[in-house]
Amino acid sequence: MKDLYGADYRKYEYIRTQAMSVCERYGYSEICSPMLEYSDVFRRGIGDETDVVSKEMYTFVDRGGESVTLRPEGTAGIIRAAVTESLIQTLPVRFMYCGEMFRYDRPQKGRYRQFRQFGCEYIGEKSPYVDAIVIATASEILNAIGIFDFTILVNSLGDEETLEAYTKAVVKYFSRHEKSLSPESQVRLSKNPLRILDSKDKTDIEICSMAPIITDYFTREAGIYFGKVRELLDTYGLRYEVNNFLVRGLDYYTHTAFEFKPVTGEFRDSIGGGGRYDRLVALFGGPDVSGIGFAFGMERLMMLLSSEHFDTTTKTVAIIPVSDNENDYSFSLFRELHNADIAAEFIHSGNMSKKMKVVDRLGCELALIIGDEERTSGTVSVKFMNVAESIAKSRTINANSVVQFVKNALK
Ligand code: AMP
Repeated sequence: MKDLYGADYRKYEYIRTQAMSVCERYGYSEICSPMLEYSDVFRRGIGDETDVVSKEMYTFVDRGGESVTLRPEGTAGIIRAAVTESLIQTLPVRFMYCGEMFRYDRPQKGRYRQFRQFGCEYIGEKSPYVDAIVIATASEILNAIGIFDFTILVNSLGDEETLEAYTKAVVKYFSRHEKSLSPESQVRLSKNPLRILDSKDKTDIEICSMAPIITDYFTREAGIYFGKVRELLDTYGLRYEVNNFLVRGLDYYTHTAFEFKPVTGEFRDSIGGGGRYDRLVALFGGPDVSGIGFAFGMERLMMLLSSEHFDTTTKTVAIIPVSDNENDYSFSLFRELHNADIAAEFIHSGNMSKKMKVVDRLGCELALIIGDEERTSGTVSVKFMNVAESIAKSRTINANSVVQFVKNALK
């Protein structure tokens, strides 16, 4: 769990704002659902046998004896909210969100136990056009924050009939290789066999290379649907690769599934992903409608952006009384500056040398120094903290013109 502050925080805010403005153009409105839900929301929504639910959730019994869980992802809670708040009476509806997620994952680069996701859900319209628009929206978010070197992995999990037939074939195939599978995949075989397909284990990968391919199990409709999605992605000119082993970790996906990965730099893991879900809304008691969504990991996007750009500080002026006798006089100047929306610091503790060190540390551009003489004559001594300018420009000004002078100087 990482503290977020300074330049990193500004980076986070920048990404969030850019992402939101892209999504606003695509008709999404913001939703903020609770971070804590009844555990059942995720167990039923995501699926008991998924890694997220079986191994990674922060679940506890609260004081009322209810099992509750810190949300490990956004979709299940938002669909729950959309149903309980009756937000899906006129369809389609589109929600975007940004917030904390919690997974008891093994920490490593780009993987935290508390992390943040920016995500979108487009509920109530099922069409390859919508899938293509949603994938394009996600790509546009990356472009808007300055990330261009990525690829989109795309797959289709087909409809329920496809998934049923394919799962059977996968189980049959892996059962023949059970002894050679990694211990983790041996467990998956009985609980969540499709997950073996995106195992990172070397031997598993080898075995997977000969595994059945989902396209061979598509119903006619599923095949046509996926073909149209690909055609529309081509129309958009998006760079994507079809990866038939992309199953994603959560049970609710059907049809289109996708994931974004960087293609340059050190970090090549997924930065975001999503897919269509046919059953989720009805599962929470809503109408039998389909939805599609995606989420980006904010920390992963932050990793891809250089910090330089975000290491900015507000231009600030320091008000420095030389002794306590000038405190009140200086304090009213300080207030006058803030009333005029100027960032100002009132630096009045310690001796003069300590005060000037604070000015340096805070990176103030300008110091307004007020001693006995300035106070009695209604003036202010100005010192430019930038060395090159300091000698040329240091001077005394009338206290009445401080606001205008500082505004010009900090431009
Ligand atoms: P998922 O919900 O697993 O599809 O994850 C969507 C995105 O969230 C991933 O592509 C990552 O960018 C991000 N993500 C998932 N788990 C973590 C984690 N433990 N730490 C940081 N980011 C994560």
